[in-house]
Amino acid sequence: MKTNAINRQWLLARRPSGMVRETDFQRVDVALPVANLPAGEILVRNVMLGFDPAQRGWMDDAPGYMPPMEIGVPVRGSAAAWVVASENPDYPVGALVRGLFGWQDYAVANRRDDAPPMRVPAGLSPEQALGLFGGASLTAYIGLLEVGRLREGDRVLVSGAAGAVGSMAVQIARLKGAHVIGIAGGPEKCRWLTAEYGADAAIDYKSENVADRLAALCPQGIDLFFDNVGGAILEAGIANLALFGRIVLCGAISGYNDVTPSPGPRNLMNLVRQRAVMRGFILLDHLDQAPAAMAELGQWVGEGRIRHRDDIQVGFENVPQTFLRLFRGENRGKQLLRIDESQ
Ligand code: NDP
Repeated sequence: MKTNAINRQWLLARRPSGMVRETDFQRVDVALPVANLPAGEILVRNVMLGFDPAQRGWMDDAPGYMPPMEIGVPVRGSAAAWVVASENPDYPVGALVRGLFGWQDYAVANRRDDAPPMRVPAGLSPEQALGLFGGASLTAYIGLLEVGRLREGDRVLVSGAAGAVGSMAVQIARLKGAHVIGIAGGPEKCRWLTAEYGADAAIDYKSENVADRLAALCPQGIDLFFDNVGGAILEAGIANLALFGRIVLCGAISGYNDVTPSPGPRNLMNLVRQRAVMRGFILLDHLDQAPAAMAELGQWVGEGRIRHRDDIQVGFENVPQTFLRLFRGENRGKQLLRIDESQ
């Protein structure tokens, strides 16, 4: 480690109002975080950043499952990093870890942090740690199986289906014997859904009427709806629920940049008619299930039964524009960024 190294950072310059913009962030250089680490702490060097739509919610000054990000500090976000100095025997120098290390080169981390660093299992690369075996895959697995109580033969609907969480949800549901319909934006993503991820049918919400197509594709109704999008797409799913249908609310990206939340869905009475349940969940509450999920995912990967796509951008200067890709539908798979070309 260079002792005179600088720490490049992207700070939250102001809270976004409406659609997040590159000008909401500020690029600064500061000195390395610390010269002498206190006992228990580690210094990590980020190599790969992972982007999650939820970061947009953390930028608002609003109550949530995590405190709002502070203005003037590095943007909170996940990263895979090498331990470069350590005063903690659980994280030796040279170990690969992942955690919420933020939009910067270096971070000081501690087991007592809200989201403590996790050792990456031996043999996994930084992109695998954040992508194939990262939070999005765990979210899909746990959301479907634990929260959604997926059953063989279920008719499953997944929205945001070509994205990081959605593409895994489609495949896991198929591997567990469900019939799957995926919703995504545009013909290219819809083609992936059926040709690569094994969905039985795909709906392009940008060019088709989702409620009408659902009614035609699945006249018996949807048993389990895994929703990443919210808004009009959630409403279309509610309109097409089977008796005793279940909805898992994973996210609602269609509203993350709204200045004021839209009212709705307007058809909640259909939950009453169909004796249906709708339940939200946050992955962080279910991390005790991560080892079992990783084990089964690893088995499927080893058997070649899971396809995974990472969208890897390159260069620290490109961090904000890479984040914006999520809200323009530009990411082609799990959105990652390799901090330096040489790493
Ligand atoms: P994705 O890889 O799916 O990327 C975001 C995608 O969302 C875009 O590519 C785009 O796909 C779609 N999208 C963007 N804007 C809109 C819009 N206005 N209306 C409809 N679709 C839109 O992201 P992730 O897989 O990382 O996240 C998916 C969801 O899962 C998010 O809601 C996220 O917050 C949630 N999540 C929840 C977790 C939990 O613990 N509950 C944990 C992790 C993620 P397209 O081109 O198809 O429109």
